[in-house]
Amino acid sequence: MKGNEDIKINRSTLWLVLGIGIYWLVIVYLHGLEYAMGFGKAILIMAIIYLVIYLAQNNTKKKEEYSDNWDEIRRRILDRDSYSCSNCGVKNTTLHVHHVVPLSCGGKTIDSNLVTLCKDCHKSIHPHMR
Ligand SMILES: [Zn+2]
Ligand SMILES: [Zn+2]
Repeated sequence: MKGNEDIKINRSTLWLVLGIGIYWLVIVYLHGLEYAMGFGKAILIMAIIYLVIYLAQNNTKKKEEYSDNWDEIRRRILDRDSYSCSNCGVKNTTLHVHHVVPLSCGGKTIDSNLVTLCKDCHKSIHPHMR
C-alpha cells in the first residue's frame, strides 16, 4: 500500500524533472552551455519549490478525502449493513467501516467501496492494526 503511494509521487517527480531537463536543454541551445549552467541553479531551486508545493497539496487532498463528512458516510454504511459484520455477521460489538480498496491504492470513500466489519475481522485484514 505504501509502495503504491511512493510510485505515484515518483512518477510525478519524473515528469517534473523531465520537463525541467527539456527546458534546460532549450536554454543551452539558445544561450550556450555557460549561461545554462548558471541558470541551472535557479531551475533547481524552482524545481524544489514546485516539488514541496506538490507534495503539500497531495497531503492535504488525502486528508480531506478521509475526513470529509466521514461520520455521516460511516453511519450510512453501518445502517446499510444493519450494524453487523459483513464477514462473520456478529452484532453488538465494536464495528468498523473498512475500505475494500484502500485509499492508498486509489480506493474511494464511496458506498460501494465501504463495508462494515467487526473489530476482529478488521484486525485480520490489517495485521498490524491494534
Ligand atoms: Zn466479523
Ligand atoms: Zn480497514
